[in-house]
Amino acid sequence: MLEAALRAGADAVRINFSHGDSAQHVRYLKLVRAAAAKLGRPCAVLADLMGPKIRVDRATYILEPGKLVSLTKGRGVPENNVIGLTHAGWFDNAKSGQRILLDDGKLELEFLGTLKNGNGRAKVVRGGTLKPGKSLNVPGVDLGLPMPTAKDRIDLKVIQKAGFDWIAASFVSSAEDVRKLRAFCDRIHLTVPIISKIENAAAVEKLEEIVEASDGVMVARGDLGVEVELERIPTLQRNVIHAARAAGKVTIVATQMLETMMENPLPTRAEVTDVSTAALSRVDSLMLSGETAAGKYPVETIAMMARIIRMAEKNLEEDIVSVPHSDAMALMCEAGLYLSLIAGARALITISTRGSTPRYLSSYRGNIPIVVACTNEAIYHRSTLYYSMNPMRIEPVRETETVFRKIEKGLRNWKLVNRGDVLVFVFGYPIHGKHRTNTIRRWDVE
Ligand code: PEP
Repeated sequence: MLEAALRAGADAVRINFSHGDSAQHVRYLKLVRAAAAKLGRPCAVLADLMGPKIRVDRATYILEPGKLVSLTKGRGVPENNVIGLTHAGWFDNAKSGQRILLDDGKLELEFLGTLKNGNGRAKVVRGGTLKPGKSLNVPGVDLGLPMPTAKDRIDLKVIQKAGFDWIAASFVSSAEDVRKLRAFCDRIHLTVPIISKIENAAAVEKLEEIVEASDGVMVARGDLGVEVELERIPTLQRNVIHAARAAGKVTIVATQMLETMMENPLPTRAEVTDVSTAALSRVDSLMLSGETAAGKYPVETIAMMARIIRMAEKNLEEDIVSVPHSDAMALMCEAGLYLSLIAGARALITISTRGSTPRYLSSYRGNIPIVVACTNEAIYHRSTLYYSMNPMRIEPVRETETVFRKIEKGLRNWKLVNRGDVLVFVFGYPIHGKHRTNTIRRWDVE
């Protein structure tokens, strides 16, 4: 299934640490690596931390509107209407009348206060069946959980040992949260970039500082649509995309993109338009979740998404998006991009040892394939998340002409170039040395 997913157009996989155990997460990582290696392709693997999120225990509850329920830490007692939760340290921070949303807002409770035995008391407002392990949101209330949480700390050690390419941090509320997470990662020698998931009102308010402190951001529309009014999502999505692009950070739009395809072989017109709109606003990556994790048509959904993206990219209005970077290296990238567009180049190529040039190159959203030739396995996989990026593995040869010829050969094998085509290289000379990007070179394919 993973091989079919990659063939259908997936170039990154998210493993959600909110579900399953460490052994399963590591097994899934190995399966993705094996599928990518078999197909000779890069694939980024994103470890999505659960973060300060509350979940219901492993029982099923029937919630009838108007009924009173108790909330407790640990295991619940469904027959006594006692709902078990992974965390209960927020009861004292919630006022009577506070909304409690279950299963992404499908069910709702009203908080009434704390009982003598320390349990919470609530009334069912919107009832239904509450299935095992579903989410619980208390919008606007401090949950009293640290960042990273105790579970995240255990998971981060597994992530460090197993070798994931990116981390996604759930329920980030401030730049300080990101800094604390990064400090913990540094302590355990985990050096992967961090994507902050924007999914609550606090994160929306502190968007600029979170973008600044992170390597990327995800518009996590599932929880965001529970924590803020649904009608705010489209404008918040636009604001997140603009803020991240201006800072040269990665953007991901996620959740319910092709939700109908969980059960049906075709999406709705509205879903197609949503995917296309996100692609036209040039986010780096679009993410499927339920559709591929539990849907009936995972491969068809990926293929459909890839088709919509390709069509949108044929209809972009500008060839480049201006970004106010002032860094000299970023300006080299911008100049290389202009040269490649004016010269009608088939591809813009960078040779990256540290991974920062592909990030800058992609941030200008050039309407041209960008190839990142890398000797480093981690950059090879990680770069697939960047806009328009095609990673290529190369041997660490230092002689410039030899490296260019090898890359040209690789591009011929990809059927991307032919004799007479122009390529533009943006790279640090001498190649694989300690210099940052300092050279732009036009290359005619003979
Ligand atoms: C979301 O809430 O949209 C999201 C991507 O996070 P998760 O799937 O972990 O709930």
